[in-house]
Amino acid sequence: MDATRKPRVAVHKFSSCDGCQLAFLNLGEPLLELAGRVDLVHFAEAGPFDPDAEVDVAFVEGSVSTPEDIERILHIRARSRMLIAIGACATAGGIQALRNGADGAAWVAQLYSHPDAIDSLAHSTPIATHVKVDFELWGCPVSGPQILQVVNSLLLGVAPRDNADKVCTECKRQGHPCVMVTRGVPCMGPVTRAGCGALCPGLGRDCYGCYGPAENANTDALAAQFRALGLDAAAIVHRFQSINSQAPVFLAAAGKAEMTRDA
Ligand code: SF4
Ligand code: SF4
Ligand code: SF4
Repeated sequence: MDATRKPRVAVHKFSSCDGCQLAFLNLGEPLLELAGRVDLVHFAEAGPFDPDAEVDVAFVEGSVSTPEDIERILHIRARSRMLIAIGACATAGGIQALRNGADGAAWVAQLYSHPDAIDSLAHSTPIATHVKVDFELWGCPVSGPQILQVVNSLLLGVAPRDNADKVCTECKRQGHPCVMVTRGVPCMGPVTRAGCGALCPGLGRDCYGCYGPAENANTDALAAQFRALGLDAAAIVHRFQSINSQAPVFLAAAGKAEMTRDA
């Protein structure tokens, strides 16, 4: 890259709720400071609009859910030196991927007065299913400080740091009482990827896994703990089939719990 010019950055939206783009916008002052260091050429929610621009870094929010999405992600990949998937929709298909294991056409028929006008794929899939992704930021939504850390790393020319450890590590570091140990509340923290700063346990409630699976997640042990706390098989399936239902580790854990449903 020409060192005399600012890096060109784009933020693209696919099937999503826009919450991860809002995490960008909610950065506040650091975002204004960042705007001076990069050339933000496309970010429709914030103003700049040039979806065909060639860029150094493309952030992509949302899952691939329509035939048009497939064409668009190929187009964007061909014009981006680095592509970073942000949020649970982009990394695991998102909440809309719950349809992957259901009769999506029946849902569409129930919800829309003109179902024939809906042109969606049977499955909602993560960006990496379709193109090479250089880095993934998990979470629903991603955290602003995490985005900033990634951008700063890229501006310094170093690889962004990936923290795939468990939420429990952040929870313990911050001294939050464990909701599972002290109150018997089932918590997904032992199998969920860190990054949010243990937001939910810090507010006295359980983690529901919005950051997706941590590395070396022992879902068998957590499912056994959930059973010991009184959850039946259906409730355990629901724990793993939520925002990151299609993340392979959670999908497998839900499948195992499903098999015990009538046992
Ligand atoms: S990951 Fe969550 S917050 Fe981000 S776009 Fe998807 S649904 Fe919205
Ligand atoms: S509250 Fe949840 S995240 Fe925190 S230590 Fe307990 S199990 Fe882990
Ligand atoms: S504690 Fe769990 S559910 Fe809450 S924000 Fe963090 S990862 Fe998401």
